[in-house]
Order: sequence, then structure tokens, then C-alpha cells
Amino acid sequence: MNLTDAAGQPLRYTAHDFRRIFASDAVGSGLPVHIVGRLLDHRNINTTQAYMAIFDEQLVRSYRAFLDNRRSQRPEAEYREPTEEEWREFQPHFQLRKLELGECGRPYGTPCKHKHACIRCPSLRLDTRARPRLVEIVANLRDRIEEAKLNGWLGEVAGLKASLNAASSKLVSLDRMMERGTGGGRVLLGIPVLGPGHATAEEA
Ligand code: SF4
Repeated sequence: MNLTDAAGQPLRYTAHDFRRIFASDAVGSGLPVHIVGRLLDHRNINTTQAYMAIFDEQLVRSYRAFLDNRRSQRPEAEYREPTEEEWREFQPHFQLRKLELGECGRPYGTPCKHKHACIRCPSLRLDTRARPRLVEIVANLRDRIEEAKLNGWLGEVAGLKASLNAASSKLVSLDRMMERGTGGGRVLLGIPVLGPGHATAEEA
């Protein structure tokens, strides 16, 4: 068929290339990758993934199909423009999530169930810019434990130690996150910004 590559050179196929073409086509046509792996007799799914070519167009098409499918299963009424009143009620929630050391990750519309003990809370999402403050908090907790011991306030010591352990482990996680760069590999979606015509939190 005189097929050529992007550089105009004739394409050459080996028998293995047909396995790759099969894997790419099967996954692109909706067969789950772990099933394709079994068909190809791969023990490790990473081997199957290395076989597949994922093209941008295919990525977009698959994601759109996934969204269309999800939307078709949900009530149509959920896919409407929010009213001005709903926006006004929604936006302050994100402002109220801003904390000294980062952001609170609790779901929208839910109250804090952890008595605002953020330093011990798993819902706290640390901000790398808050590291100096976290270091201060750790040092301060150590001082307070010593002070409590000296004064015989033994009832304070256990609580302070729990806070110190939590703050120290948060510091370790933050440092790991900073070492890996870019917020620990997470994609930070930020706080929603309202378009023209919607009130800001300050205006609300
Ligand atoms: S204690 Fe946890 S849930 Fe409550 S405000 Fe702090 S981070 Fe959020």
C-alpha cells in the first residue's frame, strides 16, 4: 500500500506491531484496559498500557462520551444555570474555607464536624506558603508542653502532645509535597471565580 511515516519513509511492521494496534484499537473502542491485558496474556497492566497509543483526539472523545453518559443518567433539572441567589449562597462557602495553614476540604454546604481543630484535622489541605507558620506552631506547641509540665498542668499535656504530633506530621507531609513539587502531584483547581453579573462574596 506504500504507506509512509511522517518523515516520508516506508512503514515497516513486525508481528508485534499488530498486538500494539490491537491494544490501541480495543481500548479506544471501549474495552477496559484490564480486559485487553488478559487477552494479550499480560501479567502486569503496565505492560498493556505501554502497548497503547492514546491520541489527544481519542482522549477528548472518550472523556466527552463519559460525560454524556453520566449526564444521561442524571435528572435534566440538575443541568441548569444557577440563579443569582444560589450563586450568592454558594460563593461565601469557598471564602469561609480559607484557613491560616491552607484550605478546609470539607464538602460544600457541610458544617465543620471537627470543632475547628484544624491542626489535627485530615480535611486540612496545606498551603506551601504556610510552612513558616507551621514551623512556628510546632515550636510553640513544644514550648507549651514544657511550660505545662513545669507548672504541673498535666491535664494539658496529652492534648498538646496530640496537637504536636499532628502538626509535626503535617510538616513532614508538606515538605514531601514541596520536594515532589507542584503541590504533591495534585491538580489544584482553585476557588471558582464568578463571571460578570454574579455578585462577589464581598458584595453579597
Ligand atoms: S477542623 Fe477540619 S473540617 Fe473543621 S474547619 Fe478545620 S479543616 Fe475544616
